[in-house]
Amino acid sequence: MAACLKSWGEPAFRVSQVLGWLYGHWVADWDAMTNLPQPLREKLQAEFSLQAPELARKQGSRDRTQKFLWRLNDRSLIESVLIPASPALYGEASDRHTLCVSTQVGCAYGCKFCASGLAGWKRNLRADEIVGQVIAVERWHQGEMRRVKAEGRAEENSHLALPTSRLINNLVIMGMGEPLANYDHLVKALRILNAPWGGGIGARKITVSTSGLAPQIRRLADEPLPVRLAVSLHGATDETRNRIMPVNRKHPLRELIAACEYYRRKKGRMITVEYVLIAGVNDGRDAAKALAALARRLRAKVNLIPCNKVEGLPWEHPDEKIQEQFLAALERQKVVATLRREKGHDIDAACGQLRLKTERELGGNPC
Ligand code: SAH
Ligand code: SF4
Repeated sequence: MAACLKSWGEPAFRVSQVLGWLYGHWVADWDAMTNLPQPLREKLQAEFSLQAPELARKQGSRDRTQKFLWRLNDRSLIESVLIPASPALYGEASDRHTLCVSTQVGCAYGCKFCASGLAGWKRNLRADEIVGQVIAVERWHQGEMRRVKAEGRAEENSHLALPTSRLINNLVIMGMGEPLANYDHLVKALRILNAPWGGGIGARKITVSTSGLAPQIRRLADEPLPVRLAVSLHGATDETRNRIMPVNRKHPLRELIAACEYYRRKKGRMITVEYVLIAGVNDGRDAAKALAALARRLRAKVNLIPCNKVEGLPWEHPDEKIQEQFLAALERQKVVATLRREKGHDIDAACGQLRLKTERELGGNPC
């Protein structure tokens, strides 16, 4: 756009004006950019789209988690989840609003417990479709603020008011899809979301989650962007991982752990290990012992996530007592661990679930 504006003979400050409207005021219309001359707005409109994904459905949870189902231009459905302030989801002191975004339509990796992989992979998201999820949520938030103000209900909705014009200050790449299988679009999107002229989200407030694509973990380690890495381990032996995560046959634990160590060394920061607790599969004493050994070796923090029930899949989370015992076993072995009491479980907030439900209601196949 900068090159285009230059070729039209426009002064350099036009670029910052446009970006200010786009990422500061979150406008969806060139005509709203009132400090640009009208003929320029028309030229820009003819050349560039400001379209973000269209809201197909939204579910709000009692804990204020909001789940958005977006429809893309080719009618594919993807999801984002907005998670309100909570203490230290990913080791941060303040994570006022975290957005979880998708990177693919469906997923090719077919983890046995996951709704996103159930109907396979359709396509990668482009960088603009990844960034567009953030833009669309910010635009939604602006609209909500205007609405409650117009209705005279701003006070009872004080949680919507913010000191800055940006709602999202934490990003987790944990929605539908395997982000590292869409590497180039992912990294381009992260650069835009991290840029001060763009999303303005600090790289240390961005967490990329992967099921274990070891070569791409190394590649990400070599990028200048110091984002956090979360590894979906879910099993601390090849036997367990092979059973529930087909990716492990391609990149077994030994290769994955070496890539994680490389990441930690290059970035000098702690990795988070995600561990979905599944009853009778990975919740026993031996599993806790093996996980503790791996976590200590990686000097990683462990996030325990009780498995979310997906309709049509047999997997269940263990009883709370067993979850607590598993946590205690890790802690006894000096591992920093948290047990996530799921947010948004009343709105199908585990990845891929709202899309699956909507497609089933519409009688179609998700892919
Ligand atoms: N593909 C990437 C990121 C998207 S999945 C990855 O696998 O890491 C984001 C997280 O949701 C992963 O840790 C995944 O294992 C977890 N997840 C998938 N299905 C789940 C379920 N039914 N219950 C709880 N967590 C689930
Ligand atoms: Fe894909 Fe991640 Fe789901 Fe596995 S857990 S199927 S990698 S989205």
